[in-house]
Amino acid sequence: MNYLRRRLSDSTFISNLPNGYISDLQRPDPAQPPPPQAPSAKSPTTTGPTPPATSPGTERRAQPAQSTGTSFFSSITNVVKQTAASAGLVEQTQVTTPKKFKILLVIDEASQEWAKLLRGKKVYGDYDLKVEQAEFKEINVVANANGTCTVNMQVLRNGTKVIRSFKPDFVLIRQHAFSMTHNEDFRNLIIGLQYGGVPSVNSLESIYNLCDKPWAFAQLINTHRKLGAEKFPLIEQTFYPNYKEMVSMPTFPVVVKIGHAHSGMGKVKADNHTKFQDIASVVALTQTYTTTEPLIDSKYDIRIQKIGGDYKAYMRTSISGNWKTNTGSAMLERVAMTDRYKLWVDTCSEIFGGLDICAVKAIHGKDGKDYITEFVGSSMPLVGEHQAEDRKLIADMVLDKMNSLAEKQANAPPRPTTIQPSQRGLARNTVKPPLKDGRPPNSCLQYILDCNGVAVGPKPVQAN
Ligand code: ATP
Repeated sequence: MNYLRRRLSDSTFISNLPNGYISDLQRPDPAQPPPPQAPSAKSPTTTGPTPPATSPGTERRAQPAQSTGTSFFSSITNVVKQTAASAGLVEQTQVTTPKKFKILLVIDEASQEWAKLLRGKKVYGDYDLKVEQAEFKEINVVANANGTCTVNMQVLRNGTKVIRSFKPDFVLIRQHAFSMTHNEDFRNLIIGLQYGGVPSVNSLESIYNLCDKPWAFAQLINTHRKLGAEKFPLIEQTFYPNYKEMVSMPTFPVVVKIGHAHSGMGKVKADNHTKFQDIASVVALTQTYTTTEPLIDSKYDIRIQKIGGDYKAYMRTSISGNWKTNTGSAMLERVAMTDRYKLWVDTCSEIFGGLDICAVKAIHGKDGKDYITEFVGSSMPLVGEHQAEDRKLIADMVLDKMNSLAEKQANAPPRPTTIQPSQRGLARNTVKPPLKDGRPPNSCLQYILDCNGVAVGPKPVQAN
């Protein structure tokens, strides 16, 4: 390099170069990879005009294959070019190709066209919003501990198989992650997205927690205890982890809810002990849990939904006479949002760290009493004549969240993507025991030391 630098500062060497060589050096090289600096960082050597920003579509354009001879010549050219630049002979331009889009992954049926709803939208920082939509069964996930998450997707669009691989910046989940019908268990994908740190609506943690109805019902029991039966009238329910305990006599008629299923599946009515035992024998084959509830002589079902700050209440009455109003024909009417309903849904929206989208389901009995049966999250189906408005509310909320995330990222100090061994040591130092007069504050505690002798946590020991 020093030899080249000396040669390039020698005017006779420059005058002996072939015609047009220096002007050729001044031309920007399209095949150069982006420099390692951040896009906004200005290098002191940058004196030339910044090339126009590359559009996302042109970013991945394939470069024509070069022969070995050409690439060898081009690498020599690059060395000469850099040397000439450092000698101040040519102007150096920076070619940066920052990613100018954010990807939103929507997990939903193709009939719900989220891309249309979010077409032309921008995310903070002048990013274009790209929407990728697929069903759970059409995607797979690879996540890495360094926080990267790649979604591989295979979808059929108008008879054409589309295969794509991308890193989502955000995910909206509108499908049930778990259902015992059709073996639809996608909890592994929820784990993958969480592992890869993909932000989501609702949170992935809440989606995972809502994958078992009795687990979610346990939260309702806590709320019922806190608020009391008057304010939060929860239905009585009994949980059986398997068929073996289904021998105790419930009060009949009873509703048996088998496992975790949706749309009325696995819900059976038993009027007497014989029928209940028959159902128990079927449960024995399923290897799942069961819950039982008293059968409410119902007037109508209630559903109170909350999307961000928007509240709606509905009542559903069976027309066909089926005890399950979600089976057969039913009439749906929007009803007034009362303070009582608002309290129910607001309280439920705080469960599992907060649910941006949720609904509370209840039954209004002929006895004039309400019975809360369940709460659901972002996979809740939209109902009624305001579905388009609700979908727009969800889309706006997702965009708001993506904007504030992008703003936070833009203002956050840069952080290393991988933890170096030395940093790992530093991180452990943060849990070093506080010393008081050179001694641990609690003489009954010892500290577990790692292989470097750094304390990683307290170890309880028995006091003498
Ligand atoms: P969805 O997927 O629509 O939420 P689901 O599979 O969760 O349905 P449930 O909502 O528990 O099923 O029950 C289906 C219907 O059965 C309810 O809409 C309600 O009309 C009726 N139902 C449920 N539990 C009872 C009960 N204890 N007494 C009377 N009717 C009930």
